[in-house]
Amino acid sequence: MTTSSVSTDATVLVDLVAGIASGDLDVVDLTNPLSSTTPALRLPAPFANLIDFSLEEVSAYNEPGPFWRHNNIHTGEHIGTHIDAPVHWISGRDGHDVSQIPLPRLIGTASVIDVSAEVEQNPDFLLEIEHVQAWERENGELTAGTWLLLRTGWDRFANSQEQFLNVDENGSHTPGVSAECAKWLAEETPISGFGSETVGIDAGNAGAFDPPFPMHYHLLGHDKYGITSLQNLDKLPATGSVLIVSPLPIVGGTGSPARVIALVDRRQ
Ligand code: MN
Repeated sequence: MTTSSVSTDATVLVDLVAGIASGDLDVVDLTNPLSSTTPALRLPAPFANLIDFSLEEVSAYNEPGPFWRHNNIHTGEHIGTHIDAPVHWISGRDGHDVSQIPLPRLIGTASVIDVSAEVEQNPDFLLEIEHVQAWERENGELTAGTWLLLRTGWDRFANSQEQFLNVDENGSHTPGVSAECAKWLAEETPISGFGSETVGIDAGNAGAFDPPFPMHYHLLGHDKYGITSLQNLDKLPATGSVLIVSPLPIVGGTGSPARVIALVDRRQ
């Protein structure tokens, strides 16, 4: 006698595929297309930056490959829409690398919190515990394994490195999460991870927080993950969609560009 609330009826998977085919289930791409112009983080000196993504042609139906075209890819791990694995941060150094992340953790419900109106007024907006608790009063508590996605409207800048990083003489001004809320999300909630529309999971000026980059510090130090540079979160309901995060299984990798998609039930 099973006590599982999940049906083991094989029609679940048949219904899933039929729902996608009929359009009842919408497949939403949350990924920024990956090219040499995809915005990427720029750390200030003395820190070292990753290389941007680029394609290097090896053959194109020509002498080095008369019937085929193929390229080498060059990229940093944390370029474009990507996942941060626990080993990315010093607090998670003994945790999983990106190839070791258990696959069930990469498929979960999406819980979307919309702060785009607040960010419109203040690009340095920080998510606080009370914002999440207000969301929970409206939508129910964050469930085990859910992905908390912060909708800020920042994806509208995703084609411009300058606007996406929004740097002035005082640093980068992009929204994020307060240090207190980061600790709370990591220690007190059952989320699998957190997703942002910005270049990283921390606010643009989070290097000055305590600890510096608190989302990285707390989340990755508690076996939770980050995904960044998401798009199209406005196409997701607050609850009820399913997120699939699909990084490359780079052995020893601290992260990977990832295709991130959501399944949304349009019949609701
Ligand atoms: Mn990263």
